[in-house]
Amino acid sequence: MSNSEIRYPMVELDLKKFRHNIDQVVQICGKQGIGIAGVIKGFTGIPEGANQFAEAGCDFIASSRLEQIEGAIKFGIKTPFMLIRVPMLSEIKDVIRLTQISLNSEAEVLKALNEECIRQQKKHRVILMIDLGDLREGFWDKKELLDAALLVENELSHLELAGVGTNLGCYGSVAATPEKMEELIRDAEMIEKAIGRKLDIISGGATTSFPLVLNGTMPKRINNLRMGEGIILAKDLRDLWGLDMSFMNQDAFTLRAEVIEVKNKPSYPVGEITFDAFGGTGTYVDRGIRKRALLGLGKVDVAFPDMIYPREKGVEVLGASSDHLIIDIEECERDIKVGDVVEFDLCYATIVFATNSPNVRIVCK
Ligand SMILES: *Cc1c(COP(=O)(O)O)cnc(C)c1O
Repeated sequence: MSNSEIRYPMVELDLKKFRHNIDQVVQICGKQGIGIAGVIKGFTGIPEGANQFAEAGCDFIASSRLEQIEGAIKFGIKTPFMLIRVPMLSEIKDVIRLTQISLNSEAEVLKALNEECIRQQKKHRVILMIDLGDLREGFWDKKELLDAALLVENELSHLELAGVGTNLGCYGSVAATPEKMEELIRDAEMIEKAIGRKLDIISGGATTSFPLVLNGTMPKRINNLRMGEGIILAKDLRDLWGLDMSFMNQDAFTLRAEVIEVKNKPSYPVGEITFDAFGGTGTYVDRGIRKRALLGLGKVDVAFPDMIYPREKGVEVLGASSDHLIIDIEECERDIKVGDVVEFDLCYATIVFATNSPNVRIVCK
C-alpha cells in the first residue's frame, strides 16, 4: 500500500509502562493472598501485552475471546488460559483445545465440556459464576448453583470444580462491596459443605473489586481477581472512584493519527443543518473563523471520538465521521502541518475499538 514503514493511525503500547502497572497490581494483591487473571480482551489480546501478564506472574491469562487466546498460545505463552465469557455451545471444542479453565453458568454447557474433554483426552477446570445482582452471567437460583456444583463434582469425570466467581459493575452497575464478597463466600461454603472439600478459587470479580483490596476491606477468602482495565489504564478507578492511582501509568497506550488537511474555516456549519454522517445532528458552537485540522482517523476506528484525549495543549476534538476526525488547533502552540502526527490518550472503550480495527497498526516498544 505504501513504501514508508510507519503508517497511521497507530496504537503504541509501551511495554515497560504496562509492565509497571501489572507488577503493582500483582504485588498489592499478592500481599493479600489474591492471584491475578490478567485479562487481555481490553487490548484485543496484543500478544506482547499478554506476554507481560505472563512474565509478571499472573496465575492465568484471560479473555472472553478464544481467538485472542489462540494468538497468545502461538506467541509462546505457557501460562494457563482462562475463558471468561461463559462458553458458547458452538465453541466447546476450542474451549477444551485452547484453555485450561473457564467460567460457567449452564449445566448443559458443563456436560458438553465434559464430553469434549473425553474426546480430546483432556481435563478442564471450571469456575461456577454466581450472579449477585449485577444481572449479567451467573447462577441466580442457589439450588440450581448447588446442583451444578454436585453435577461437576460427582458426575462429570473430566471436569474439576475449581471454585466460584462473580462479576459486578458490568451491566447493572452494582458495586463490589464487602457484603457482596461475603455472600460469594457463603455460597462457596455451601458448596464446600456439600462436596466435603475446600474449593481452590473464589474469584471476587474484575477491576471494580480492586478498590476493596486497596482500602483493605476485601474478605480473606477471596483469592482471585480477573483484571483488565485497572491494569491497562487504571483510569476508571481514578475518575469514577476517586482513588489515588498515581502509582500507575495511565499512558501505556498512545493513539497517533496523521494530519491530512489544515485550514482556517468557520466553526459553525454554513447552510441548512440537517443530519450528520450517522443520522444525528451535531452541536456546533459559533466561535468565528478558527484554525482546524483533519486527521486520518474516524468513528470506524475509535467509535467514540469524544473519548480520545489530545495530549497537546490547545488541541480540541470537534467531532468525527466514519473516517475523518476534526480538531480545533487555533490555540495550539505548535504550528501543525499536513503530515504531522497528533497524539491521544485513550480510555477503555477507545482502546478496545482502536486495537480491534484492522486499519489501526499496533506497535509495541
Ligand atoms: C471483562 C471481564 C473481566 C475484566 O474486566 P476489567 O473491568 O477489564 O477488569 C473480568 N471478568 C469477566 C467475566 C469479564 O467479562
